[in-house]
Amino acid sequence: MSAPSCIANRESLCFKCYPAAFPFPDRPIMRYQIVPVTPLEQNCTILWCEETRAAAIVDPGGDAELIIRAVAAENLKPSIALITHGHFDHAGAAKEIAAHFSIPVVGPHEHDLFWLERITETGMSYGIKGSSVKPERWLSDGDRVRFGKEELEVLHCPGHTPGHVVFYHRPSRLLLVGDVLFQGSIGRTDFPGSKHVDLIASIKEKLFPLGDDVRFIPGHGPMSVLGYERQYNPFVGEGA
Ligand SMILES: [Zn+2]
Ligand SMILES: [Zn+2]
Repeated sequence: MSAPSCIANRESLCFKCYPAAFPFPDRPIMRYQIVPVTPLEQNCTILWCEETRAAAIVDPGGDAELIIRAVAAENLKPSIALITHGHFDHAGAAKEIAAHFSIPVVGPHEHDLFWLERITETGMSYGIKGSSVKPERWLSDGDRVRFGKEELEVLHCPGHTPGHVVFYHRPSRLLLVGDVLFQGSIGRTDFPGSKHVDLIASIKEKLFPLGDDVRFIPGHGPMSVLGYERQYNPFVGEGA
């Protein structure tokens, strides 16, 4: 397969063609389904192990019934709820989901404890119902989390919140970044405990080195590719 002309001519590289330049790895990409939850359309993502049907529910921020329905539709067996950071739109239904499936809540990094404790209150200020939650296990940089025969690597990426973590499935080159990086944008840093310089360092020093071909699911909006953001993102791209 020859590369589309916009890839040969990097000046006019277009987002639609970018993934075509990086074929999928030999093994199938991790199975996943995105379930947008809450009026903020947060991308709750269900990941699963094909072989065992064991699933990880990442950022169950609200609308637990939608998540439960999606799990049932694929006949999955959730074994872990993972949290990228303590904001209510990412963790507001973690308690309900954990109780429903009798699974542990794992993550984020403990520096987000103050956000997890304030979920009910901060959700209310947006008119959104959520429950504060205490994880069974905090995560640190370099940790690993497992479900079925799959394993995710944990990267601590502070900035948007101090305890933000992202999850990386290396065999699929698939990254779940929460509110660190978006297609064409970056996470907000106007919250208590946010730090803009930390966010930029997280993206440039931890995410970008994973490789241009790594696809990512952000906490809101469409998926993107690290290489595209490294070049064109107006906040962290080459032209920034
Ligand atoms: Zn957030
Ligand atoms: Zn969010």
